[in-house]
Amino acid sequence: MTDQRAIIEQLTAYRGLFEALLKRREADCEAYANATPYEQNLWSSKRAQLERLADIDHAQRKINLFDAAMERVVVGQYGSCTCCGVSIDETRLTADPAEPNCTSCARSVALSPRTKQIDAGIACEAMVIRLDDNIAILALPSGEHGSLSLGEIADQPLGQLNEYLRVGDVVRVKSLGNDGSGRARLTMKMSRQVAA
Ligand SMILES: [Zn+2]
Repeated sequence: MTDQRAIIEQLTAYRGLFEALLKRREADCEAYANATPYEQNLWSSKRAQLERLADIDHAQRKINLFDAAMERVVVGQYGSCTCCGVSIDETRLTADPAEPNCTSCARSVALSPRTKQIDAGIACEAMVIRLDDNIAILALPSGEHGSLSLGEIADQPLGQLNEYLRVGDVVRVKSLGNDGSGRARLTMKMSRQVAA
């Protein structure tokens, strides 16, 4: 029992580190988004902003992994591979206490081709990198690009895209799946239901 508590305490401590990172990066992102273009150029760069978005994405994934690991402790499955059920090597768990997989399962995950596509329904922060008349191209934290049309900005959009967005803006978006040209089709209407 004390063993279980020690594991939970350790997982909680590590989770806290990523939560602190997440909060810092989110605050920086918000400050950047609210700054004037001149201020943005003064103390930051778009590249730095993209790195912050990537950090946010990474921290969020880590937090999710720690949460999942804590759930496994509670149900008595901590230390077993979530894929095949065998005991995870002690050295692996020492290196990363949230590790969900044994060496061989982790290897097969790493070898399988990575789908460069964000799943429909996933919400994230993205930065406007190009604005055309009818479409905005946004950089997602995953490194992919997404497209956003005027109709996905507001229910009854008036005027043109550039009246709502500027290049460098960071907005919260949700993916509606693939847009047919290798990008994610995005919406800013967060309550919009994603077709199954
Ligand atoms: Zn396994």
